Amino acid sequence: MTAFSTSPGTRDILAPDSERWRAFQNVFAEVALASGYRYIIPPMFEDLGVFLRLGEATDVVTKEMYDFEDKGGRRIALRPEQTASVCRAFVEHRPVTPWKVWYAGPNFRYEKPQQGRYRQFDQVGVEVLGVDDPHLDAEVIALADEFYRRLGLRKVELAINSLGDAGDRQRYADALQAYFTAHKASLSAESQTTLAKNPLRVLDSKRKEDQSVIAGAPKIEEFLSPAASEHFAEVKRSLTGLGVSFTVNERLVRGLDYYRRTTFEFVSTALTAAHTAIGGGGRYDGLVEELGGPATPGIGFALGLDRTLLACDAEGVFPAPNGDVSVFVVDTTGGSHATRLCRVLRGAGISADRAFDGRSMKAQMKAADRSGAKIALIVGTNEVESGSIVMRSLSSGEQTTIAHGDAVSAVTQLLANQGS
Ligand code: AMP
Repeated sequence: MTAFSTSPGTRDILAPDSERWRAFQNVFAEVALASGYRYIIPPMFEDLGVFLRLGEATDVVTKEMYDFEDKGGRRIALRPEQTASVCRAFVEHRPVTPWKVWYAGPNFRYEKPQQGRYRQFDQVGVEVLGVDDPHLDAEVIALADEFYRRLGLRKVELAINSLGDAGDRQRYADALQAYFTAHKASLSAESQTTLAKNPLRVLDSKRKEDQSVIAGAPKIEEFLSPAASEHFAEVKRSLTGLGVSFTVNERLVRGLDYYRRTTFEFVSTALTAAHTAIGGGGRYDGLVEELGGPATPGIGFALGLDRTLLACDAEGVFPAPNGDVSVFVVDTTGGSHATRLCRVLRGAGISADRAFDGRSMKAQMKAADRSGAKIALIVGTNEVESGSIVMRSLSSGEQTTIAHGDAVSAVTQLLANQGS
Protein backbone atom coordinates (compact mmCIF):
# COMPACT_ATOMS: atom_id res chain seq x y z
CA MET A 1 0.00 0.00 0.00
CA THR A 2 1.20 3.51 -0.73
CA ALA A 3 2.01 5.57 2.33
CA PHE A 4 1.23 9.19 1.52
CA SER A 5 2.93 12.25 2.88
CA THR A 6 2.02 15.93 2.69
CA SER A 7 2.23 17.77 -0.60
CA PRO A 8 5.28 20.09 -1.09
CA GLY A 9 4.88 23.38 0.72
CA THR A 10 2.25 22.04 3.12
CA ARG A 11 2.65 20.62 6.61
CA ASP A 12 0.69 18.94 9.35
CA ILE A 13 0.79 21.26 12.31
CA LEU A 14 0.86 18.96 15.32
CA ALA A 15 0.69 19.70 19.05
CA PRO A 16 2.18 21.66 20.70
CA ASP A 17 2.74 23.84 17.58
CA SER A 18 -0.93 23.63 16.65
CA GLU A 19 -1.87 24.95 20.10
CA ARG A 20 0.60 27.76 19.66
CA TRP A 21 -1.17 28.67 16.39
CA ARG A 22 -4.49 28.89 18.16
CA ALA A 23 -3.00 30.98 20.94
CA PHE A 24 -1.50 33.26 18.28
CA GLN A 25 -4.88 33.72 16.65
CA ASN A 26 -6.51 34.27 20.03
CA VAL A 27 -4.08 37.06 20.90
CA PHE A 28 -4.74 38.64 17.52
CA ALA A 29 -8.50 38.36 18.06
CA GLU A 30 -8.18 40.12 21.43
CA VAL A 31 -6.15 42.97 19.96
CA ALA A 32 -8.52 43.38 17.00
CA LEU A 33 -11.72 43.18 19.06
CA ALA A 34 -10.34 45.76 21.49
CA SER A 35 -10.21 48.19 18.56
CA GLY A 36 -13.68 47.48 17.22
CA TYR A 37 -12.80 45.03 14.42
CA ARG A 38 -15.30 42.23 13.74
CA TYR A 39 -14.48 38.74 12.52
CA ILE A 40 -14.98 37.80 8.88
CA ILE A 41 -14.56 34.34 7.37
CA PRO A 42 -14.30 34.66 3.58
CA PRO A 43 -14.42 31.50 1.48
CA MET A 44 -11.16 29.78 0.65
CA PHE A 45 -11.90 29.85 -3.07
CA GLU A 46 -13.48 32.47 -5.29
CA ASP A 47 -14.01 33.33 -8.90
CA LEU A 48 -10.53 33.77 -10.38
CA GLY A 49 -11.53 37.27 -11.52
CA VAL A 50 -11.60 38.50 -7.91
CA PHE A 51 -7.89 37.81 -7.57
CA LEU A 52 -6.92 38.96 -11.05
CA ARG A 53 -7.74 42.46 -9.77
CA LEU A 54 -4.63 42.23 -7.61
CA GLY A 55 -2.66 43.25 -10.69
CA GLU A 56 -1.11 41.67 -13.70
CA ALA A 57 2.49 42.38 -12.73
CA THR A 58 2.38 40.54 -9.44
CA ASP A 59 3.87 37.07 -9.07
CA VAL A 60 0.89 36.18 -6.91
CA VAL A 61 -1.32 36.54 -9.98
CA THR A 62 0.95 35.49 -12.83
CA LYS A 63 2.80 32.52 -11.38
CA GLU A 64 1.46 31.47 -8.04
CA MET A 65 -2.29 31.15 -8.37
CA TYR A 66 -3.90 27.80 -7.60
CA ASP A 67 -6.60 28.09 -10.23
CA PHE A 68 -8.71 25.44 -11.86
CA GLU A 69 -11.97 24.86 -13.63
CA ASP A 70 -14.60 23.32 -11.38
CA LYS A 71 -17.14 20.73 -12.45
CA GLY A 72 -19.57 23.51 -13.35
CA GLY A 73 -17.07 25.04 -15.75
CA ARG A 74 -16.29 28.02 -13.46
CA ARG A 75 -12.81 29.44 -13.32
CA ILE A 76 -11.96 29.17 -9.62
CA ALA A 77 -8.87 30.05 -7.57
CA LEU A 78 -7.82 29.21 -4.03
CA ARG A 79 -7.35 32.54 -2.31
CA PRO A 80 -3.73 33.77 -2.35
CA GLU A 81 -4.60 36.44 0.23
CA GLN A 82 -7.78 37.81 1.78
CA THR A 83 -7.91 41.52 1.00
CA ALA A 84 -9.51 40.99 -2.40
CA SER A 85 -12.10 38.66 -0.85
CA VAL A 86 -12.92 41.22 1.83
CA CYS A 87 -13.44 43.88 -0.85
CA ARG A 88 -15.56 41.51 -2.89
CA ALA A 89 -17.63 40.83 0.26
CA PHE A 90 -17.98 44.59 0.80
CA VAL A 91 -19.35 45.06 -2.69
CA GLU A 92 -21.66 42.08 -2.27
CA HIS A 93 -23.10 43.00 1.15
CA ARG A 94 -22.70 46.80 1.23
CA PRO A 95 -22.20 47.02 5.01
CA VAL A 96 -22.32 50.35 6.84
CA THR A 97 -18.98 52.13 6.76
CA PRO A 98 -16.52 52.30 8.33
CA TRP A 99 -16.41 48.54 7.98
CA LYS A 100 -13.69 47.18 10.25
CA VAL A 101 -12.98 43.47 9.97
CA TRP A 102 -10.28 41.02 11.02
CA TYR A 103 -9.55 37.57 9.69
CA ALA A 104 -7.36 34.54 10.24
CA GLY A 105 -6.78 31.55 8.04
CA PRO A 106 -4.83 29.86 5.29
CA ASN A 107 -3.92 31.23 1.86
CA PHE A 108 -2.46 29.37 -1.09
CA ARG A 109 0.38 30.35 -3.40
CA TYR A 110 2.31 28.11 -5.72
CA GLU A 111 5.73 29.24 -4.50
CA LYS A 112 9.05 27.47 -4.20
CA PRO A 113 8.83 25.95 -0.71
CA GLN A 114 11.59 26.85 1.75
CA GLN A 115 11.85 27.85 5.37
CA GLY A 116 9.27 30.57 6.05
CA ARG A 117 7.74 30.15 2.58
CA TYR A 118 4.98 27.62 2.05
CA ARG A 119 2.27 26.86 -0.47
CA GLN A 120 -0.35 26.86 2.23
CA PHE A 121 0.41 29.51 4.81
CA ASP A 122 -1.65 31.26 7.44
CA GLN A 123 -2.19 34.95 7.87
CA VAL A 124 -4.03 37.12 10.34
CA GLY A 125 -5.03 40.59 9.28
CA VAL A 126 -7.45 43.50 9.37
CA GLU A 127 -9.13 45.61 6.71
CA VAL A 128 -11.09 48.85 7.05
CA LEU A 129 -13.29 50.14 4.25
CA GLY A 130 -14.83 53.55 3.85
CA VAL A 131 -12.40 55.83 5.70
CA ASP A 132 -9.75 58.12 4.30
CA ASP A 133 -8.58 59.62 7.57
CA PRO A 134 -4.81 59.40 8.17
CA HIS A 135 -5.54 58.69 11.84
CA LEU A 136 -7.00 55.40 10.69
CA ASP A 137 -3.74 54.54 8.92
CA ALA A 138 -1.98 55.16 12.21
CA GLU A 139 -4.54 53.06 14.12
CA VAL A 140 -4.11 50.13 11.74
CA ILE A 141 -0.31 50.28 11.90
CA ALA A 142 -0.38 50.68 15.70
CA LEU A 143 -2.64 47.63 15.95
CA ALA A 144 -0.02 45.46 14.25
CA ASP A 145 2.66 47.02 16.44
CA GLU A 146 0.61 46.25 19.56
CA PHE A 147 0.10 42.67 18.44
CA TYR A 148 3.83 42.09 18.01
CA ARG A 149 4.37 43.53 21.48
CA ARG A 150 1.76 41.22 22.97
CA LEU A 151 3.59 38.27 21.48
CA GLY A 152 6.70 39.54 23.22
CA LEU A 153 8.57 40.47 20.04
CA ARG A 154 11.00 43.35 20.41
CA LYS A 155 13.17 43.09 17.31
CA VAL A 156 10.57 44.27 14.83
CA GLU A 157 11.19 47.29 12.62
CA LEU A 158 8.51 49.24 10.83
CA ALA A 159 9.12 50.92 7.47
CA ILE A 160 6.50 53.17 5.89
CA ASN A 161 6.10 54.98 2.62
CA SER A 162 3.48 56.74 0.56
CA LEU A 163 2.77 55.78 -3.04
CA GLY A 164 0.59 58.82 -3.59
CA ASP A 165 -2.78 58.83 -5.32
CA ALA A 166 -3.55 57.08 -8.57
CA GLY A 167 -2.40 60.09 -10.63
CA ASP A 168 0.82 60.48 -8.60
CA ARG A 169 1.51 56.81 -8.87
CA GLN A 170 1.07 56.93 -12.62
CA ARG A 171 3.36 59.95 -13.04
CA TYR A 172 5.93 58.25 -10.85
CA ALA A 173 5.56 55.01 -12.80
CA ASP A 174 6.14 56.95 -16.04
CA ALA A 175 9.26 58.59 -14.62
CA LEU A 176 10.54 55.21 -13.43
CA GLN A 177 9.76 53.68 -16.81
CA ALA A 178 11.84 56.34 -18.54
CA TYR A 179 14.68 56.02 -16.01
CA PHE A 180 14.84 52.21 -15.98
CA THR A 181 14.51 52.06 -19.78
CA ALA A 182 17.54 54.33 -20.06
CA HIS A 183 19.44 51.91 -17.75
CA LYS A 184 17.89 48.74 -19.08
CA ALA A 185 21.16 47.14 -20.09
CA SER A 186 22.39 47.18 -16.48
CA LEU A 187 19.24 45.51 -15.11
CA SER A 188 18.85 41.77 -14.48
CA ALA A 189 16.84 39.81 -17.04
CA GLU A 190 14.04 39.38 -14.48
CA SER A 191 13.84 43.11 -13.82
CA GLN A 192 13.79 43.82 -17.55
CA THR A 193 10.71 41.59 -17.80
CA THR A 194 9.14 43.27 -14.76
CA LEU A 195 9.85 46.67 -16.29
CA ALA A 196 7.69 45.86 -19.27
CA LYS A 197 4.76 45.14 -16.93
CA ASN A 198 5.17 47.48 -13.99
CA PRO A 199 8.24 49.68 -13.41
CA LEU A 200 7.32 50.16 -9.73
CA ARG A 201 7.92 46.51 -9.08
CA VAL A 202 11.53 46.83 -10.27
CA LEU A 203 12.13 48.74 -7.00
CA ASP A 204 11.16 45.53 -5.20
CA SER A 205 14.01 43.58 -6.77
CA LYS A 206 16.44 42.12 -4.28
CA ARG A 207 18.89 41.12 -7.03
CA LYS A 208 22.40 42.43 -6.51
CA GLU A 209 22.95 43.58 -10.08
CA ASP A 210 19.87 45.84 -9.89
CA GLN A 211 20.80 47.67 -6.71
CA SER A 212 22.97 50.46 -8.12
CA VAL A 213 20.40 51.31 -10.80
CA ILE A 214 17.63 51.27 -8.19
CA ALA A 215 19.65 53.54 -5.89
CA GLY A 216 19.71 56.25 -8.56
CA ALA A 217 16.00 55.99 -9.44
CA PRO A 218 13.65 58.96 -8.99
CA LYS A 219 11.94 59.09 -5.60
CA ILE A 220 8.19 58.97 -5.05
CA GLU A 221 8.32 61.95 -2.70
CA GLU A 222 8.85 64.32 -5.62
CA PHE A 223 5.65 63.07 -7.26
CA LEU A 224 3.22 63.22 -4.35
CA SER A 225 0.25 65.57 -4.78
CA PRO A 226 -0.21 68.13 -1.97
CA ALA A 227 -3.17 66.10 -0.65
CA ALA A 228 -1.22 62.82 -0.59
CA SER A 229 1.77 64.58 0.89
CA GLU A 230 -0.32 66.11 3.71
CA HIS A 231 -1.99 62.74 4.32
CA PHE A 232 1.40 61.07 4.72
CA ALA A 233 2.65 63.85 7.00
CA GLU A 234 -0.39 63.37 9.24
CA VAL A 235 0.13 59.59 9.35
CA LYS A 236 3.70 60.19 10.52
CA ARG A 237 2.62 62.75 13.13
CA SER A 238 -0.07 60.41 14.39
CA LEU A 239 2.33 57.46 14.65
CA THR A 240 4.82 59.60 16.51
CA GLY A 241 2.04 60.70 18.85
CA LEU A 242 1.24 57.04 19.51
CA GLY A 243 4.89 56.28 20.28
CA VAL A 244 5.21 53.88 17.33
CA SER A 245 8.72 54.16 15.89
CA PHE A 246 9.22 53.89 12.14
CA THR A 247 11.55 54.75 9.32
CA VAL A 248 10.48 56.07 5.93
CA ASN A 249 11.61 53.76 3.13
CA GLU A 250 11.05 55.37 -0.24
CA ARG A 251 11.64 52.07 -2.03
CA LEU A 252 8.80 50.33 -0.25
CA VAL A 253 6.26 49.60 -2.98
CA ARG A 254 5.04 46.19 -1.77
CA GLY A 255 4.05 43.32 -3.98
CA LEU A 256 0.48 44.03 -4.96
CA ASP A 257 -0.52 46.62 -7.53
CA TYR A 258 -3.52 48.11 -5.79
CA TYR A 259 -1.73 50.06 -3.08
CA ARG A 260 -2.20 53.84 -2.86
CA ARG A 261 -0.85 56.35 -0.37
CA THR A 262 0.34 54.66 2.85
CA THR A 263 2.25 51.39 2.59
CA PHE A 264 4.13 49.71 5.40
CA GLU A 265 6.11 46.63 6.22
CA PHE A 266 7.32 44.98 9.42
CA VAL A 267 10.68 43.25 9.36
CA SER A 268 12.12 41.01 12.07
CA THR A 269 15.77 41.78 12.69
CA ALA A 270 15.95 38.54 14.68
CA LEU A 271 15.46 36.51 11.49
CA THR A 272 18.54 35.91 9.40
CA ALA A 273 16.96 33.92 6.58
CA ALA A 274 16.08 35.47 3.23
CA HIS A 275 12.55 36.18 4.37
CA THR A 276 12.56 38.67 7.20
CA ALA A 277 9.29 40.43 6.27
CA ILE A 278 6.77 39.27 8.84
CA GLY A 279 3.86 41.47 7.83
CA GLY A 280 2.77 44.42 5.84
CA GLY A 281 -0.07 46.33 4.30
CA GLY A 282 -1.28 49.64 3.07
CA ARG A 283 -4.06 51.65 1.50
CA TYR A 284 -5.79 50.31 -1.54
CA ASP A 285 -8.14 53.09 -2.42
CA GLY A 286 -8.88 51.76 -5.91
CA LEU A 287 -9.62 48.10 -5.21
CA VAL A 288 -13.31 48.21 -4.32
CA GLU A 289 -14.02 50.07 -7.56
CA GLU A 290 -11.98 47.52 -9.49
CA LEU A 291 -14.32 44.89 -8.05
CA GLY A 292 -17.42 46.68 -9.25
CA GLY A 293 -18.25 48.67 -6.12
CA PRO A 294 -18.49 52.40 -5.42
CA ALA A 295 -15.28 54.40 -4.96
CA THR A 296 -14.33 53.40 -1.41
CA PRO A 297 -11.06 53.93 0.39
CA GLY A 298 -9.55 50.93 2.15
CA ILE A 299 -6.59 50.03 4.28
CA GLY A 300 -5.36 46.88 5.94
CA PHE A 301 -2.51 44.56 6.68
CA ALA A 302 -1.74 40.86 6.80
CA LEU A 303 0.79 39.20 9.05
CA GLY A 304 2.29 35.85 8.19
CA LEU A 305 1.61 33.49 11.07
CA ASP A 306 4.28 30.94 10.15
CA ARG A 307 6.97 33.53 9.73
CA THR A 308 6.03 35.55 12.79
CA LEU A 309 6.32 32.38 14.86
CA LEU A 310 9.81 31.86 13.41
CA ALA A 311 10.60 35.37 14.65
CA CYS A 312 9.18 34.39 18.07
CA ASP A 313 11.49 31.35 18.09
CA ALA A 314 14.44 33.57 17.17
CA GLU A 315 13.65 35.90 20.08
CA GLY A 316 12.71 33.05 22.44
CA VAL A 317 9.24 34.43 23.11
CA PHE A 318 5.63 33.22 22.87
CA PRO A 319 6.18 29.53 23.66
CA ALA A 320 3.47 26.97 22.97
CA PRO A 321 0.88 26.92 25.75
CA ASN A 322 0.89 23.87 28.01
CA GLY A 323 -1.76 21.56 26.65
CA ASP A 324 -1.29 18.82 29.26
CA VAL A 325 -4.27 17.60 31.25
CA SER A 326 -4.25 18.27 35.01
CA VAL A 327 -5.34 14.85 36.19
CA PHE A 328 -4.81 11.28 35.00
CA VAL A 329 -7.17 8.67 36.36
CA VAL A 330 -5.77 5.18 36.91
CA ASP A 331 -8.39 2.48 37.34
CA THR A 332 -7.33 -1.15 37.78
CA THR A 333 -10.87 -2.45 38.33
CA GLY A 334 -12.02 -2.49 34.71
CA GLY A 335 -12.40 1.18 33.82
CA SER A 336 -15.91 2.18 34.84
CA HIS A 337 -14.66 4.21 37.81
CA ALA A 338 -12.30 6.09 35.54
CA THR A 339 -15.23 6.82 33.21
CA ARG A 340 -17.28 8.33 36.04
CA LEU A 341 -14.40 10.19 37.68
CA CYS A 342 -13.30 11.74 34.39
CA ARG A 343 -16.83 12.93 33.77
CA VAL A 344 -17.08 14.51 37.23
CA LEU A 345 -13.69 16.22 36.92
CA ARG A 346 -14.24 17.45 33.36
CA GLY A 347 -17.70 18.69 34.34
CA ALA A 348 -16.07 20.74 37.10
CA GLY A 349 -13.68 22.30 34.59
CA ILE A 350 -10.67 20.14 35.53
CA SER A 351 -9.00 18.55 32.49
CA ALA A 352 -8.60 14.81 32.90
CA ASP A 353 -7.55 11.79 30.90
CA ARG A 354 -7.30 8.06 31.52
CA ALA A 355 -6.12 4.80 30.02
CA PHE A 356 -8.30 2.34 28.13
CA ASP A 357 -8.25 -1.38 27.36
CA GLY A 358 -7.76 -2.59 30.95
CA ARG A 359 -4.03 -1.95 31.04
CA SER A 360 -1.93 -3.03 34.00
CA MET A 361 -1.32 -0.67 36.94
CA LYS A 362 2.28 -0.23 35.78
CA ALA A 363 1.27 0.63 32.21
CA GLN A 364 -1.37 3.08 33.44
CA MET A 365 1.10 4.82 35.78
CA LYS A 366 3.50 5.14 32.87
CA ALA A 367 0.73 6.66 30.75
CA ALA A 368 -0.03 9.05 33.64
CA ASP A 369 3.60 10.22 33.67
CA ARG A 370 3.67 10.60 29.91
CA SER A 371 0.46 12.65 29.92
CA GLY A 372 2.17 15.51 31.77
CA ALA A 373 -0.64 15.50 34.36
CA LYS A 374 0.12 16.97 37.77
CA ILE A 375 -2.00 14.50 39.67
CA ALA A 376 -2.95 10.82 39.37
CA LEU A 377 -6.17 9.59 40.92
CA ILE A 378 -5.83 5.86 41.50
CA VAL A 379 -8.73 3.47 41.99
CA GLY A 380 -8.05 -0.21 42.82
CA THR A 381 -10.13 -2.95 44.42
CA ASN A 382 -9.36 -1.73 47.96
CA GLU A 383 -10.45 1.80 47.11
CA VAL A 384 -13.68 0.58 45.55
CA GLU A 385 -14.49 -1.36 48.70
CA SER A 386 -13.81 1.59 50.98
CA GLY A 387 -15.30 4.26 48.67
CA SER A 388 -11.98 6.07 48.50
CA ILE A 389 -9.42 7.20 45.94
CA VAL A 390 -5.65 7.51 46.17
CA MET A 391 -4.52 10.98 45.09
CA ARG A 392 -0.90 11.12 44.04
CA SER A 393 1.13 14.18 43.20
CA LEU A 394 3.10 13.18 40.11
CA SER A 395 5.78 15.77 40.80
CA SER A 396 6.57 14.92 44.43
CA GLY A 397 5.26 11.34 44.53
CA GLU A 398 3.35 12.13 47.75
CA GLN A 399 -0.01 10.48 48.07
CA THR A 400 -3.06 10.67 50.28
CA THR A 401 -6.32 8.80 50.45
CA ILE A 402 -9.45 10.86 49.90
CA ALA A 403 -13.16 10.06 49.97
CA HIS A 404 -14.67 9.34 46.56
CA GLY A 405 -17.06 12.27 46.82
CA ASP A 406 -14.22 14.69 47.59
CA ALA A 407 -12.33 14.22 44.31
CA VAL A 408 -13.10 17.64 42.84
CA SER A 409 -12.36 19.64 45.98
CA ALA A 410 -9.21 17.67 46.85
CA VAL A 411 -7.82 17.96 43.31
CA THR A 412 -8.66 21.66 43.16
CA GLN A 413 -6.84 22.23 46.46
CA LEU A 414 -3.75 20.27 45.42
CA LEU A 415 -3.54 21.99 42.01
CA ALA A 416 -3.79 25.37 43.77
CA ASN A 417 -1.00 24.34 46.19
CA GLN A 418 1.13 23.32 43.24
CA GLY A 419 0.54 26.72 41.71
CA SER A 420 -1.15 25.53 38.54
P1 AMP B 1 1.71 39.57 1.34
O1 AMP B 1 0.29 39.08 1.38
O2 AMP B 1 2.52 38.99 0.20
O3 AMP B 1 1.83 41.03 1.51
O4 AMP B 1 2.42 38.94 2.62
C1 AMP B 1 2.13 39.34 3.94
C2 AMP B 1 2.88 38.43 4.89
O5 AMP B 1 2.45 37.09 4.71
C3 AMP B 1 4.38 38.36 4.62
O6 AMP B 1 5.04 39.38 5.32
C4 AMP B 1 4.74 37.00 5.16
O7 AMP B 1 4.92 37.07 6.56
C5 AMP B 1 3.52 36.19 4.87
N1 AMP B 1 3.67 35.35 3.65
C6 AMP B 1 3.46 35.70 2.36
N2 AMP B 1 3.67 34.65 1.54
C7 AMP B 1 4.03 33.61 2.32
C8 AMP B 1 4.37 32.24 2.09
N3 AMP B 1 4.36 31.71 0.88
N4 AMP B 1 4.68 31.47 3.15
C9 AMP B 1 4.66 31.97 4.41
N5 AMP B 1 4.35 33.24 4.70
C10 AMP B 1 4.03 34.05 3.68
